[in-house]
Amino acid sequence: MFNGILIEKDQQGYRARLASLAETQLPEGDVEVSVDYSTLNYKDGLAITGKGPVVRSFPMVPGVDLAGRVAQSSHPAFKPGDAVLLNGWGVGEKHWGGLAQKARLNGDWLIPLPAGLTPWQTMAVGTAGYTAMLAVMALEKNGATPDSGKVLVTGANGGVGHFAIAFLSRLGYRVVASTGRPEETAHLQQLGAAEVIDRAVLSAPGRPLGKEQWAAAIDSVGSHTLANICAGLHYQGTVAACGLAQGMDLPASVAPFILRGVTLAGVDSVMRSKADRVAAWQRLAPLLDEALLKSISREIPLGQVIDTANDLMAGKVRGRVVVDVNR
Ligand code: NDP
Repeated sequence: MFNGILIEKDQQGYRARLASLAETQLPEGDVEVSVDYSTLNYKDGLAITGKGPVVRSFPMVPGVDLAGRVAQSSHPAFKPGDAVLLNGWGVGEKHWGGLAQKARLNGDWLIPLPAGLTPWQTMAVGTAGYTAMLAVMALEKNGATPDSGKVLVTGANGGVGHFAIAFLSRLGYRVVASTGRPEETAHLQQLGAAEVIDRAVLSAPGRPLGKEQWAAAIDSVGSHTLANICAGLHYQGTVAACGLAQGMDLPASVAPFILRGVTLAGVDSVMRSKADRVAAWQRLAPLLDEALLKSISREIPLGQVIDTANDLMAGKVRGRVVVDVNR
């Protein structure tokens, strides 16, 4: 038997609980992993609280990220004892995920633990940090350099936002952080933000084109915010869009695209190729240090996951949450 968070949906409704599970309940897969740590991402919050249609089959163990050791494997790339990492691939949505002491997975989804990082550190980064690096790489692919001008990061106090600020500033960019929590200004500056703005200036309906303010942006918010970013980018600027914390809509006009040659670069981390994943983790690893990870992350035991998921959905969590599934 092992412990895990279990989401069920039946006549009694939608609910999540800490459950004792049997190995025979694990889904099919060619690699069994003893999980050390998982995380709480926005998507896990949606899944656990039922606030978004993330879970596709029931019962489900949530958790889109995990780090641990291979316990059993019939996959040619992995043998017992190997340290592995998983982000996405529908795990925690369609296939039992990381918020449990054990997981059985398709070995094609796993990557070896990135060199120089511990399982705890990879979960402090998690899908949020890996996505932030994919977004940075999308900006670079479209020509952004530290000399291009200021880079805007929205959802600054979230997981993606925190890592986007830290990575960009460590790469030499001047970062403008947008937040609804101005009381966290000092913390955001410590992460590397040169300026902090109130998200309210971006979240209401705006004009099709505005003043050219930012060379590039990483947006985890969507909706009017993303529309206003497009309207405020420099000529041939790029925004990497990866989230929907404000909303899934995009009430924008084509003006920034046809008059300023702006690029809207979509970022998906879930189905990303193995090569891209390995590249993103290789890029981000040297930008990390223990002090940064400790300032961004805190650790909770499995028993606090459900309460913390509710806090996350209420916008009360700052940065990242690492889950010790064995505590
Ligand atoms: P978090 O919950 O950690 O952070 C979200 C942040 O968004 C909050 O901290 C808050 O920042 C801001 N925010 C919340 N509500 C609103 C609102 N109504 N209007 C404007 N801003 C708001 O989530 P993550 O950082 O983990 O994820 C952020 C987004 O990115 C989510 O939508 C998530 O689903 C998406 N995502 C997408 C991925 C992909 O592959 N495309 C991968 C990972 C995440 P503040 O308090 O500073 O304003």
